[in-house]
Amino acid sequence: MMRQINTDKVTDLVEKLCIEANCNLTDDIYTCLKDCGKKEKSVLGKSILNTLVENADIARRGTDPICQDTGMTVVFVTMGQDVHIEGGFLEDAINEGVRRGYEKGYLRKSVVKDPLDRVNTKDNTPAIIHYELVPGDKFHITVAPKGFGSENMSRLIMLKPSQGLPGIKDFVINTISEAGANPCPPIIVGIGIGGTMERAAYLSKKALLRPVNEKNSRPDLAELEAELLDSINALGIGPAGFGGTTTALSVSILTNATHIAGLPVSVNIGCHATRHAEGDL
Ligand code: SF4
Repeated sequence: MMRQINTDKVTDLVEKLCIEANCNLTDDIYTCLKDCGKKEKSVLGKSILNTLVENADIARRGTDPICQDTGMTVVFVTMGQDVHIEGGFLEDAINEGVRRGYEKGYLRKSVVKDPLDRVNTKDNTPAIIHYELVPGDKFHITVAPKGFGSENMSRLIMLKPSQGLPGIKDFVINTISEAGANPCPPIIVGIGIGGTMERAAYLSKKALLRPVNEKNSRPDLAELEAELLDSINALGIGPAGFGGTTTALSVSILTNATHIAGLPVSVNIGCHATRHAEGDL
């Protein structure tokens, strides 16, 4: 039996999540920033981390966004195959939610309709929407506004399989090193390995959703993440790029089956305001 969900409910939820994501730093990142503030070796770095915590506190109190760059709205939809959407087109309902959320929350409108003529759509639509179809009748939405200071420093490479783990590590470290202060560190590093070119990019974005205090369920990947995190923090870029021991808060890896002849690797950098909010219908 199909479960009916009306598009009005989808719009209302997306509207709420846009405001929530932009104003409430998730607890895991907030706590991590606080802890890093205690451990950071640089005095200036420590002060920056404490300021970021204070900034998050102010944003949580009212309706002020965590950052002026309220991002391009990335929406992850996980939908059971036993769900039927009624009342309109799902994509229109999501974009209407973004439109209302950005208006109601006084969030900056940062989207241009065409990448060449660069005319602002003035309502932050269209969102970038990823759909995942699953068994059952659940309907889950995650709204993840993505700032472009960090998005612009993200990179993808098609390695040869023979380059293996050393090639992956070099690519990740070089990407973060070249990014320097641009992605507003401390950063979160999402890595997608395998699949095809676009699958690796998608996975690296999705990897940013994992709480920073959660370990990878695969022990070998958890070990790789810990090694990469140490190497990234040893770069000394530090909070806001002013030097220090806290360049990244976490590294999160997702993998996918791939072709015998390829090793796609994508690094999606999330800034200190790596935001998301989620809800079910
Ligand atoms: S990269 Fe993040 S912290 Fe930096 S300006 Fe953009 S949203 Fe704000």
